[in-house]
Amino acid sequence: MKTVIHWFRRDLRVTDNTSLNAAVASAEAVVPVYILSTWKNAHRWTGPNRQHFLCESLASLDESLRGVGGSLVVRSGDAVDELMHLVAESGAVEIHFNRDPDPHGRAVEARLEEACRLAGIAVVPHKDVAIHERDEVLTGAGETFRVFTPYSKAWAKLPKPAVGVRVKELVVPVGISSLPLPDVSHWELKPASAGVLEGGEKAARARMASFLNSGIARYGVLRDMPSVPATSRLSQDLRYGLLSIRELHEACMKKAEELDAEGRVSAMKYVAELIWREFYMQILWNYPEVLEREFNLKYHGMIWPGNPEAFERWKFGQTGFPIVDAAMRELLETGFMHNRTRMITAMFLTKDLHLDWRLGESWFMQQLVDGEIASNNGGWQWSAGTGADAAPYFRIQNPWSQTKRYAADGVYIKKWIPELREVDPSKFLEPPAPGMRLAANYPTPMVDHAAARDVTLDMFKIALSERGS
Ligand SMILES: Cc1cc2nc3c(=O)[nH]c(=O)nc-3n(C[C@H](O)[C@H](O)[C@H](O)COP(=O)(O)OP(=O)(O)OC[C@H]3O[C@@H](n4cnc5c(N)ncnc54)[C@H](O)[C@@H]3O)c2cc1C
Repeated sequence: MKTVIHWFRRDLRVTDNTSLNAAVASAEAVVPVYILSTWKNAHRWTGPNRQHFLCESLASLDESLRGVGGSLVVRSGDAVDELMHLVAESGAVEIHFNRDPDPHGRAVEARLEEACRLAGIAVVPHKDVAIHERDEVLTGAGETFRVFTPYSKAWAKLPKPAVGVRVKELVVPVGISSLPLPDVSHWELKPASAGVLEGGEKAARARMASFLNSGIARYGVLRDMPSVPATSRLSQDLRYGLLSIRELHEACMKKAEELDAEGRVSAMKYVAELIWREFYMQILWNYPEVLEREFNLKYHGMIWPGNPEAFERWKFGQTGFPIVDAAMRELLETGFMHNRTRMITAMFLTKDLHLDWRLGESWFMQQLVDGEIASNNGGWQWSAGTGADAAPYFRIQNPWSQTKRYAADGVYIKKWIPELREVDPSKFLEPPAPGMRLAANYPTPMVDHAAARDVTLDMFKIALSERGS
């Protein structure tokens, strides 16, 4: 009986899973395995909220696999060692998996390929995480795009891969041992209690259906209002592969055809966000060094002279800027932050507090349920002015005018800052008069935005004069 392994990674679903489908089609028996990391040195990149979501998603995956005749095999440790043990135990002749765009995941893939080459086992990587991978969307000269708009135009023109089926039957060889399904206590972690979304493919599919039915038509109009639940909230589902990006994209395009002209524009705005996700993935794929240094080489090695104590106030929502503090507290309490306020808080850390974007990048990765290395790095570098952005560095968002534009009714701010619940929302639109406080137990703004902006402009001018314009 031919046996193969499907190694689950960030594809925790049984519907339209390229590698799983290929494994099932190629053999009589499949070992479906997930390997828990030991978490050594991983603290810069993950945290309790995401691990909690992962545990729920693994439990749901096991349930789905049981529904088609199998069950999830759970192992823990070094992925290559564990896979090679599993080869020896099961007699598997191939290992299938879906490729990872992250340098960490790719390094493991390279080690696995070498171990399998020595052992005479076939390794079969598949494309699944993106509709178009790193070397598919290229300029006329065959080069990688460094700017979004031309990338997205080229992306849209390419033919799209077909949506695959849901696995109907799975035969798992007998006698393969498994660890119990984990919960967060496995890593001795405590997740945020409020507002964390349910993990697993079933919950993700319900979120997708609800957004397609009632959210996508107004997405374009409402997506920037942090107090309105108008975005899809599918980022963690795409992060863990609870949904197939092919299926989501196809469903959006179909929905767009059914909508009126305004709805269609809105649906296409949503598709553009899915393309941003792939844009940042291909940046990370092609320029993995962005995890350590500025994407725009003009700013490489730039000095961020901010005070480390300011970082603590930013992290815990104590800056005295209501929109920033509301967002930072939303993140702490739920493991999520709205896209508009991700931009505001990231610009505030870098351009008002003059702290290194890598600090914020790491804090977000530790808190976010949807923490995705590529999008997070891209979002941070974009906000810091060092990334893949066509806008010049001197376009600096003002937190007070951002509040006026996107959160003037005070609903978002009051939701997350109880100290300000009795304050008239018009007071959130500009700094309080000198010596005045918005509330007795709420801090005064820790910086003057206009003065901080001037310092930022000088920082960038110095960097440009040192490294060329
Ligand atoms: C500083 C900063 C950090 C970020 N970190 C992450 C992160 O770790 N993980 C993450 O998934 N997104 C990140 N984003 C992008 C964006 O904020 C989130 O994807 C979005 O808020 C998730 O909510 P949603 O699913 O309701 O989004 P929707 O508005 O419904 O968007 C649909 C999907 O498109 C993708 N998407 C949307 N906006 C972006 C974007 N700007 N860049 C890349 N993909 C996008 C996501 O997969 C999202 O689920 C970051 C943005 C910034 C400015």
